[in-house]
Formats: sequence, C-alpha cells, structure tokens
Amino acid sequence: MKFIIGNWKMNGTPQTKAKMINALAKTETKNRVVLCLPYTLLNGDNRGVKIGAQNISKHDDGAYTGDISGQMLVDSGVKYVIVGHSERRLYHHETDEIVHAKAIAAIKNKIIPIICVGENLAEHRAHKTQRVIHKMLKTALPGGGKFIVAYEPRWAIGTGKTPTMDEIESVHKMIYDYLKRHGNEKTPVLYGGSVNQSNAATIAAIKHVNGLLIGGASLEIKTFLSIIKSIK
Ligand code: PEP
Repeated sequence: MKFIIGNWKMNGTPQTKAKMINALAKTETKNRVVLCLPYTLLNGDNRGVKIGAQNISKHDDGAYTGDISGQMLVDSGVKYVIVGHSERRLYHHETDEIVHAKAIAAIKNKIIPIICVGENLAEHRAHKTQRVIHKMLKTALPGGGKFIVAYEPRWAIGTGKTPTMDEIESVHKMIYDYLKRHGNEKTPVLYGGSVNQSNAATIAAIKHVNGLLIGGASLEIKTFLSIIKSIK
C-alpha cells in the first residue's frame, strides 16, 4: 500500500472540491489517497475520502489570530496534516523547532503529521543534501507516535525538475536508516516535487519510497486519477 497525497495549497472552490471528492469516492485503489485542502474546504460531505489540512498551531487555543488548532481540525474531519512544507518554511519562517512542536500537536490530537524535509538548490549543488536532511530529521521529528516523512527537495517543488531516480533512492535509504535507528522503521517516507502522470509510477516503485506528495498534479481530476491508477 502506497500513500498518494494531494496538496491543493491555496487553490480550489467548493465546486472543484465536490467534483474531486465524487471522482475519488468512485475510484478503486489499494493505495491510501488523501486530499490536503485549504481550511474552507475541509468540512462537508467528503464521502469517505481521507482529508488532510496544510497547517496546525502548536497551541491548543488562545489569542493566535489566523491560526487553527488540532481540535478544530479534528472537528473538521481531518486525519492528516502537512507540517514543515517548504512554502511554510519560506513564507512563514517555520523552523525545525516549530515543525517539531506542530507535529507533536497533531499527534496529541490523533492527526497524522506529514513532516516535510528537503534541501534547497544551493545545498543540492553543493552535495549537502544528506547532511541537511539529517539535521532536519534530528530536530523536526517527534519522539514517538504515528507520523509520515515526506522528502521534498525545495528546488523540485512546482518547477518540473526532479532529482535522478538514484538520488531519490539514496535519500530515501538515508531517511529509512535514520528512522530505523530510532525505532521508527515502519514510518512511511513519501517523495514530493514535480510528480506528474509520466513519472509517478516510476518514482513510487523506488525502494524505500512509500508514496507520493503531489501539488500541482493533484488539482486536475484527470491527472490525479491517472496518477492514482498508475500506482499498483
Ligand atoms: C508540494 O507542494 O508539496 C509539491 C510536491 O508540489 P508539486 O507537486 O507541484 O511540485
């Protein structure tokens, strides 16, 4: 079973969501499909489709204008939440320490955090990928509980560029080894960054790749369904 997780970012309307939910509800797959939606689209009839959010506060409640708590997400039917996405790190200055606190808040509310890690282009070019990711894992991961890790090279997100298959395999092996050393060898590790209809099945078949986190290609029904169907 692979995870196929769509991240709609700040996109979508009640109409486009309803059409996607209808299509997903009718699609048979042995994989676990999750749709991570903006706050306004979380509620409603999700027809059994697993819903995720894209952010969570590290606080339970209080004077945190614009934030959303774990309990609020639970009340909206959320089962998963993306934390540490590179866009949150970039535009909202989220550090590994903040990502760690958010992951803990999710677990406390029985929501599974999808913890994103990834190097930037300069780090990639300087062959620092594994060192950077190791540091992120050390600080950002929770000590226990159920969570998912997503390897998302920052330079691959929304750019149409991906690492080579060998690069993906070696980073995933490094993450798997790290998780195993810390007693988390069953933790799924997903790849994200410019996944599309042509590369999804190949990437999903790489050793230690337990699924995909998909941005742009999850917005269109035809494309997302074709990705889901391509992964056996
Ligand atoms: C993402 O934002 O998590 C992502 C992987 O985006 P894209 O698939 O568009 O590169």
